[in-house]
Amino acid sequence: MTDKELDPALQKIVAAQATGEDEEDIEIPGWWVERLHAGYRQMLKIDKLLYDSKTKEQRIRVFENPTFGRVLTLDDILQTTERDEFIYHEMMAHVPMLAHGAAHSVLIIGGGDGGVLREVVKYRAVGRIVQVEIDAEVIEFSKTYLPMISDGAFDDPRYELVVADGARYVAEAEETFDVIIVDSTDPVGPGVVLFSEEFYRNCKARLAEGGVIVTQNGVPFTQADELVHTMSVFRKLFVDHTCYTACVPGYAGGALAIGWGTNDTELRAVPLEVLKRRYEAEKLKTRYYTPEVHKAAFALPKYIKDLIP
Ligand code: SAM
Repeated sequence: MTDKELDPALQKIVAAQATGEDEEDIEIPGWWVERLHAGYRQMLKIDKLLYDSKTKEQRIRVFENPTFGRVLTLDDILQTTERDEFIYHEMMAHVPMLAHGAAHSVLIIGGGDGGVLREVVKYRAVGRIVQVEIDAEVIEFSKTYLPMISDGAFDDPRYELVVADGARYVAEAEETFDVIIVDSTDPVGPGVVLFSEEFYRNCKARLAEGGVIVTQNGVPFTQADELVHTMSVFRKLFVDHTCYTACVPGYAGGALAIGWGTNDTELRAVPLEVLKRRYEAEKLKTRYYTPEVHKAAFALPKYIKDLIP
């Protein structure tokens, strides 16, 4: 392919490499570049930049892309997009909620875009939802620039927002929860502590009898260490530890792993018929989650199963 055919964005990378400039540092005008994995780039065209701000925690950007719609990135790592967010948020919320079947109290760690919260407020038996988000600005701008993701859930009367480090919250709180959903960034910046053994131990202390925790655990094909680490800690903490998967197009590299930990071995064994009854009873409207997908998500490809000690 001759230079003149090479996309101008890539020409910039080629030119930088020719001069020995570290490709990691160059910004490509009009493009967002994710550099999460060695020698592996994901790029999205920025049709319109809607928000770009450095908080004390992270750089927040929201832009419009012709394929993914509005895209949220934190420290240049893709968090969620308007087009594919339903996959991730439905699987993070409905698998633990329908497996538990009678959750009254839910703790969301992170999740500043409000997508997990939007799915949790659909459960009428839930009386209390606490969200611990370290960066209030993520919530504020999500309400403005990504309102379709929270869809008004931040106004739910059962909802309480705690602006704090989730690791500190679970260490100091007394309350217990039936379901804990760790909707964290990857283990970078403020998100690092949400992958620590101490954090998981304190989450366990916050779990009510029969409760379950699920965790955003990265794409095993490119981030195997994340899952291996979480599962090696969950193995010490829970009778039932595993993960389930969902394919989220914006999370480059293949299936996303969602960590699962509970001391109630019945939760993962809930029969399909029961899940169907619970799903229908809640009158849920979903676009990815079905009870069949719920059960199938725990059937792991061997390369992922082999990562779980
Ligand atoms: N779905 C995304 C993913 O899979 O990467 C995560 C989305 S959500 C935007 C991640 C949230 O975690 C952000 O709002 C970020 O501010 C929050 N966060 C990061 N570290 C945190 C911490 N230590 N305590 C609480 N929230 C944290």
